[in-house]
Amino acid sequence: IITPLVAGNWKMHGLLKDLEEARHLQALLTENPAQAEVLLCPPATLIHPMTAILRGGLVSVGAQDCHSLEKGAHTGDISAKMLADLGARYVIVGHSERREDHNETSEQVREKALAAHNATLCAIICVGETLSQRDAGWAEKIVLDQLAHSVPDGATASNTVIAYEPIWAIGTGRIPKPEDVAVMHQTIRDHLADRFALGDQMRILYGGSVKASNAHILMAVPNVNGALVGGSSLKALDFNGILDAY
Ligand code: 13P
Repeated sequence: IITPLVAGNWKMHGLLKDLEEARHLQALLTENPAQAEVLLCPPATLIHPMTAILRGGLVSVGAQDCHSLEKGAHTGDISAKMLADLGARYVIVGHSERREDHNETSEQVREKALAAHNATLCAIICVGETLSQRDAGWAEKIVLDQLAHSVPDGATASNTVIAYEPIWAIGTGRIPKPEDVAVMHQTIRDHLADRFALGDQMRILYGGSVKASNAHILMAVPNVNGALVGGSSLKALDFNGILDAY
């Protein structure tokens, strides 16, 4: 049985005052625990204070990106080892916003995932198609290509999570039909099961406009083992509304 993971990606949102939301979420979960692992990925600046607030509780802390090297002359970058040093347990790699804003390729994403593994972090590797790719009927082919090049051969069910995020569903309020999510998650599952010994145990998250009102529908889809949540993870009450589905 796979324990679902519900992860909040705060993206470039969050000042020190917003740590109050993490504190609030922790309090809500202590009262009413979810049947899922819960993770918050704040901006790098908040990782250290957030781990301090959440220590020993039911919410883990992760990062949103890492460099592929352990250290070196790379001004402004942060290594996976540095994130682990602060208490992070996960790192998101290959989010579509990074693939787009920073021209990250799948090969670079794989290097980052490897760096995460070497730092004993779990890598959340993101994949997903654009609307024009979906309309052209290429969605599965694009995602399979991203998986082939972004997921390192050493991936296991404990060091890797896949997040399927159709780009056109991110921040738009639109979600795919549950049957389309089912087809894509089955496609991803088949790839993982073919390639990895315990590929049938690897968690596959859905991301893109997940909120309390649709979380029940999405989590009921076969091979959906949790969610990667953007906007609705910023407020403890909204995020907890999603966790109520678990
Ligand atoms: P939204 O939940 O805001 O659509 O963002 C999804 C996402 O990109 C999470 O990584």
